[in-house]
Amino acid sequence: MSTRQVNTPGWASPMFDETVAQFDAVAELMDLDDNIRERLRHPQRSMVVTFPFRRDDYEDVDTVYGYRVQHTITMGPTKGGVRFADDVNLGEVAALAMLMTWKCAIVGLPFGGAKGGVRIDPAILSSHEKQRITRRYTSEIIDFIGPERDIPAPDMGTDAQTMAWMMDTYSQQKGHAVPSVVTGKPPELGGSVARREATGRGCVSLLPPAATSRGMAVAGLRVVVHGFGNVGQYAAVAAAELGCKVIAVSDISGGVHDEAGLDIAALQAWVALNGSLAGYEDCDRISNEELFALDCDVLIPAAIQGVITDSNAADIKAQIVIEGANNPTTTAADAILRDRDVMVIPDIIANAGGVTASYFEWVQDIQKYFWSENEIVARLREIMATAFDEVMQISIKEGVDLRTAALIKGVRKVTNAKMVRGVFP
Ligand code: NAD
Repeated sequence: MSTRQVNTPGWASPMFDETVAQFDAVAELMDLDDNIRERLRHPQRSMVVTFPFRRDDYEDVDTVYGYRVQHTITMGPTKGGVRFADDVNLGEVAALAMLMTWKCAIVGLPFGGAKGGVRIDPAILSSHEKQRITRRYTSEIIDFIGPERDIPAPDMGTDAQTMAWMMDTYSQQKGHAVPSVVTGKPPELGGSVARREATGRGCVSLLPPAATSRGMAVAGLRVVVHGFGNVGQYAAVAAAELGCKVIAVSDISGGVHDEAGLDIAALQAWVALNGSLAGYEDCDRISNEELFALDCDVLIPAAIQGVITDSNAADIKAQIVIEGANNPTTTAADAILRDRDVMVIPDIIANAGGVTASYFEWVQDIQKYFWSENEIVARLREIMATAFDEVMQISIKEGVDLRTAALIKGVRKVTNAKMVRGVFP
């Protein structure tokens, strides 16, 4: 008799359902074992916490929601970011944890996927408030994480400082310093010198092979970047270093556009000083909607999920889309881009540079032996290039798009690991 779950789990949401539907389609294509297929559709462990948070004025005490989801613990500890945003929910975090499983498998890391979040708008927090939220959230999930268990990292709305507070809170509880409990820390605490730039640079490291496969020369390509935070800024820097023209970037405040190519260093300095692109006047201002429809060769969505939809996919002029953000393209939009022969390098490989550099950081922390920046960058490039090449080969052999090919690679690796471990008891 089948014991398959038919009730609606707590993580059901449009984003989770879409992520599972993506997996289901690939599982069907691979003729995946039914039992494995069912098992991988559900996160293995998920935790919801609520905790009190006192504002600086000492009058208001809010109740805040926090989440941590571990998708599969078959291959090793789980790994994934922590995001602070006012609409974070269990379904979103569960979907991102599943995507992290495939991502780690695609680049061959010994991790399962995880993700965490706190439902709060980081923009309204003072530094003291953010520190209190981070420490209390860490304390609530402290038995759930650990260097051999689950290793958080920065994501939207969190950064190296947030990771330093998480590491300190965890270490205070353990009674000794445990740098390997988080990655993306400041270098003073054993953080990797190259982690901050790794995701954006990793994305753009796939641009030359992608362009070559389309018969396009890299120098002079017109690049547009949506999102100008950690990923977007370093993607823009790396694209400019390759000789591309970055003609537009945007953030939550809107976009800036210059056909002659933007001064990325000046924009970074502006954002560092002012917090966003708002008020930058040395070029044309455009809206985020206008940015997606710009005439360009390469589009790098590097902000939030669900921004390329069936409403704007037909307007995209880029021939290559490199997904820096997680889940920026809806399933419907993906089909439109595929029909229009736009090459989409999916998030699960395009932004895997971040978790790969995090893996290096974890290894170095555990061994207490640190590599030079050149060593880190060279190993990162090699892993990204090899994984992309393998995904391209699967895509050609199976006659499928790159997202499907990448998922086949990731799901195959996880499936093989599950099969050899067997079912307990
Ligand atoms: P971040 O917080 O540093 O930057 C986010 C950027 O997006 C900011 O410029 C913000 O203004 C902009 N933004 C937010 N909402 C927007 C909107 N509605 N329209 C336009 N712009 C908007 O975050 P990040 O670390 O750069 O992460 C960006 C994306 O990349 C996320 O999807 C994240 O999950 C993914 N990602 C990040 C890493 C990493 O190493 N940081 C690794 C893998 C994937």
